[in-house]
Order: sequence, then C-alpha cells, then structure tokens
Amino acid sequence: MRRVIVSTIVVCAVALLAFAYQDLKPGHNLLPELSNTKKVKYKTTWKITAYCPGRCCNTRFTETGIDDYTNCTAVGGLTLTGLLDAGIHVVAVDPSLIPLGSIIKYNNTYYIALDTGSAIKGFTLDILMAKHRQAHDFGVQYCDDIEVFIPENPGKVIKKIKAKAGVRKP
Ligand SMILES: [Zn+2]
Repeated sequence: MRRVIVSTIVVCAVALLAFAYQDLKPGHNLLPELSNTKKVKYKTTWKITAYCPGRCCNTRFTETGIDDYTNCTAVGGLTLTGLLDAGIHVVAVDPSLIPLGSIIKYNNTYYIALDTGSAIKGFTLDILMAKHRQAHDFGVQYCDDIEVFIPENPGKVIKKIKAKAGVRKP
C-alpha cells in the first residue's frame, strides 16, 4: 500500500513538473497561435545565417550614406535586445515570401519572423543571436527541414509580441 502511495505521489509530481515546464518552454505562449496557422513545408533547402543586435550586423552602405538599423526590428518599435531579454526567438525573413509575424520551426525551436534584411532574399533565414561571436561561429548553414506556420492574422502575433517584449519609445 505504501508503495502505491509513493508511486502515486511520484507520478503526480512528475505530471506537475511537466505542466510547469510547458509554461517555461520557449515559444509555448505562442503555440495557441499555431491553431490558426497554415503550416507550409517548402520542398527546398534553406540557407541559414545569424546576426546580433549590434552595429556590426545592422548597417548597410548605400549611395547616400549608411543606413543604421542597430537594435531595430523591421516590424518597428521593438528592440532586438528587448526581444532577446524576453526570451523571444527572432528570425529575419524575406517578407515577400513569409509574412512578418509568421512562426518558423527550425531545429526544434520556434522563431518569430519579425525582421528583414537586404541580404535576406527567398529561402533564407537570419537568426538573431545575443552575441556577435555566436553569430559569427554559426556561419552559414543549410537545412531542408524547416516548417513555416503562417498565421491567419500575422498582425495579431506581432501585437502579442509587442505586449510581451515592450515597445521602445520613439
Ligand atoms: Zn554582429
């Protein structure tokens, strides 16, 4: 009998822990959005690069000078460091292929498409990493196992992120 009680307690504890862990898992709070998404799996190989929030990865030379997007996301208002601090996984995409606000599953992690880049065209993903060293070490990788979840209303996902990560004052 004692054994039964002990194992019941253990089972309950494990279930409780699993439940608590669900809440901590990155991207979990975005998963309800997946029920309103269209899952698209392209039969292609994606090119994957990485970047950091710093000047090193966010400036572009133009004919008229330098465009500096340091710590800015394409969706506006949000800062890259604020998103990192909030534990949100950010990816830059080609918005003509993937609407901003879409959710992308790569390597068992859910990323949110919140940024763009002049070099991000077609089946290319640019993953935000906290440190330039990490982005540099990531280099260029290729993957054909990418799932894209396009929300019915991508703006709703962005709104949700803005509520969670805070919006920078203009
Ligand atoms: Zn950098």
